[in-house]
Amino acid sequence: MARTEIIATSCVLDCPDTCSLEVTVSDGAIEKIGPGEGNPITGGFICSKVRSFGKRVYHDDRLLYPLRRTGPKGKAEFDRISWDEAIETVTERFQKIREELGGEAILPYSYGGSNGFMTDELIDSIYFARLGASRLAKTICAAPTTAVASDMYGKMAGVAFSDYPEANFILVWGANPKASNIHLVPYLKEAKRRGAFIAVVDPIRQLSSDLVDLHLPVYPGADLPLALGMIDTWAKAGKLDQDFLAAHADGLDSLLTAASSWPLEKAAAEARVDVAKVRELAERFAEASPALLRCGWGLERNQNGGHAVAAIMAMPALLGKFGGRGGGYTLSNSGAGGMDASKIWDDASWRTRVINMTELARVLNEPDTLDGPPIRALFVYNCNPVATVPDQNGVIRGFMRDDLFTVVSEQVMTDTARYADIVLPATTFLEHRELKRSYGNYVVGATQPVIEPRGEARSNQAMFRALGRAMGFIDDAFGWSEDETLEKVIDAIRLNGKPVSPQPLRAGKVHGYDFDGPTPIQFENVFPSTKDGKIHLTPACLGKTPYKYRPVRSDDYPLALISPATSKTISSTLGEFNLPELKVTLHPSDATSRGITTGDRVRVFNDLGEVVCLARVDERLSPGVVCIPKGAWMKSSLNGRVSTALSPAHVNEVAGGACFNDARVQITAIEQ
Ligand code: SF4
Repeated sequence: MARTEIIATSCVLDCPDTCSLEVTVSDGAIEKIGPGEGNPITGGFICSKVRSFGKRVYHDDRLLYPLRRTGPKGKAEFDRISWDEAIETVTERFQKIREELGGEAILPYSYGGSNGFMTDELIDSIYFARLGASRLAKTICAAPTTAVASDMYGKMAGVAFSDYPEANFILVWGANPKASNIHLVPYLKEAKRRGAFIAVVDPIRQLSSDLVDLHLPVYPGADLPLALGMIDTWAKAGKLDQDFLAAHADGLDSLLTAASSWPLEKAAAEARVDVAKVRELAERFAEASPALLRCGWGLERNQNGGHAVAAIMAMPALLGKFGGRGGGYTLSNSGAGGMDASKIWDDASWRTRVINMTELARVLNEPDTLDGPPIRALFVYNCNPVATVPDQNGVIRGFMRDDLFTVVSEQVMTDTARYADIVLPATTFLEHRELKRSYGNYVVGATQPVIEPRGEARSNQAMFRALGRAMGFIDDAFGWSEDETLEKVIDAIRLNGKPVSPQPLRAGKVHGYDFDGPTPIQFENVFPSTKDGKIHLTPACLGKTPYKYRPVRSDDYPLALISPATSKTISSTLGEFNLPELKVTLHPSDATSRGITTGDRVRVFNDLGEVVCLARVDERLSPGVVCIPKGAWMKSSLNGRVSTALSPAHVNEVAGGACFNDARVQITAIEQ
């Protein structure tokens, strides 16, 4: 008879919700993944992506053994080797590169795919620090919003999702909870049922009109003038909360000076939205109480993004919307908790040059532009840059270099793993221990292995332990077991400044925060933690020309391409199954003028490259705006290229963030 057990764990994928899970395991194999108890916000349901995550764990494409490349780069021709051989090969190559060019010629390249305190920026960082490798600026997502939130509010804890029904007005700007924060949707519905006015600013109409009272389809990159136009309207109408601002904020003059250049009609014209609707939005926001802003990450992905986020995040302060349950803002809620890595290792000792991950194409192809040696070795883990980083053709050109030694640690044969010299099989979050601070709900989620690692897959912990020992590094961390690391990390975690109790985290459950109340209320039990305790309305990260607007115009490429997240993937994770056929979506008027109908094969192109895929005509987009989803794999398109082949690799001046939505393209039908 089969031995069946139900094991508690948490979802630590890159999603704000951090669901509690229950995994049914029969004879050591995953049978079912469903919602668990513990996280009250996410009890009851989980997304379809994780319900079917077992498909990735057991698929034929799962990487089970270390591999060595035998064919041309990119062809995914490999031979199986042992872990000992793989570790020896990597160690010898890294030693040789260090001797010839120095450690900075080695670049660790990672993001937080399914990783948290235990497997990202801990033992991996110790390993690369001891190598003297280059450091990586993780800018592909959330860098500008993080910089603004930090400089403006000192990452003050945001409004909890469970308090959304208390609001009378909710503005969702640059976020699509249906795709990547589904547990917010029931709270929006409850707020609506109680009479809240819900407005959304997003280039695409993603949420149903039953839920949304007002939708502004802002032109990509024009969030900044739109926000400044609203601020100017409030300033002229005497709506600013001068008493609150005098007591709690500085930097008002610079913001209002910038806003004065954007009278509402001009701002609406630049953002290509109806001025009457913008006026209504501004008036309702100013009058409502409690009023709430949910700021997302979509608006940061253009060269005006950091400035736009700052203008939008200033709104609750300008209108004095803090101080009651359901009032204020939510951006990332991760800032109220964290792990003090310095309790585990001397993290300040790693001071090599920093490489911006968004600029990978330039970094690999134009060594003369680097300060220091060229990159001779890449160690890729927790991410899939060939599919997800701007200028895909440039990135591929870099990966094809004969003199580049590439190691990829992965769960499945991704587009990036195909270019590796050495592939190292990695565990999924169902096969190792992890602790992850949620950036949506106020919990840390813990995983425990629900099955044994498949094949010879290893956790990052185990992999970097072996690599560190092979290099002769003597830090204690290279000798710790997974359980010992767990205890060290638990000891270093602080949530709202308070330590955590280990029991629930050892058991794969979530651990909540204590805010001296059930949830944070801004300016009641949580406050800005900037150095002077003030809100900085013109934060330092905006540089010398704060709130300056730089539009992207192109005569040759008249269509703005956006590449938002969908409900099908988590970045590119699960893109191998869930986005099998790439489509570009365009408005009926753009389709008609080009003789395109749904299902046609089309060419989407600009000076960086082209994507050949199918067309889908959809009036939820505005004229002049087209969409190819993020997270697709190369096999999904008809020419092996995805949206990043069209994304420019220039970066935001705020924190060097990626500018995917600055892509401008043309589309033509391909003769059938
Ligand atoms: S991806 Fe998000 S919604 Fe889905 S199970 Fe994980 S935390 Fe929950």
